[in-house]
Amino acid sequence: MIVTVASFKGGVGKTTTALHLAAYLQQHAPTLVVDGDLNRSASEWASREKLPFKVVDEKQAIRFAKQYEHIVIDTPARPAPEELKTLAEGCDLLVLPTSPDALALSAMLQMVAALHALTSNYRILLTLIPPHPSKVGLETRATIENASLPIFKSEIRRLAVFQRAALEGVPVCDVKDPYAKNAWRCYTAVGEEILP
Ligand code: ADP
Repeated sequence: MIVTVASFKGGVGKTTTALHLAAYLQQHAPTLVVDGDLNRSASEWASREKLPFKVVDEKQAIRFAKQYEHIVIDTPARPAPEELKTLAEGCDLLVLPTSPDALALSAMLQMVAALHALTSNYRILLTLIPPHPSKVGLETRATIENASLPIFKSEIRRLAVFQRAALEGVPVCDVKDPYAKNAWRCYTAVGEEILP
């Protein structure tokens, strides 16, 4: 299975999503992450060699791809509309992370509009959902569902332990923190919607 993670806006948890979906898929079968983002955040995360899967850049991808059952692609931030076609055609599922704020939502809706004519093979993932009593996560979900757009039932909470995971170069399940289990559960729930 090839899963591509894309967004028109930075800072919405694109790389975090790509790496944690890969950690989930790796539990099923050998999984490769292709770091197509020029910021190379995924490669930096992997540089401590503590991730349970291999991360390569797009130039190395062809050489390694055939050895893996699943591939997760972290795409360049803000792809040009014409690149979207290539991204959409090159995967089984396009995951569009968005945080519940006006700018991210508007960027995500732009991407959905651009994708509309190309594919129906995409799903929106709500990320960085602030804790109770904020209702912004629920409100954003209602907006997306009212527009009849495809969205994962599961969503990713805003938890500082994700930043620790990035700093330590590990998936969040390997951080020694009381919230690590909850944080990892967010991504395994998304993974189960993709590959039960
Ligand atoms: P993008 O690839 O969209 O730019 P990143 O995955 O690099 O986004 O995340 C941007 C920042 O937000 C990083 O500091 C990351 O650790 C943090 N982050 C990502 N997801 C979460 C989350 N669910 N909760 C808290 N912080 C997060």
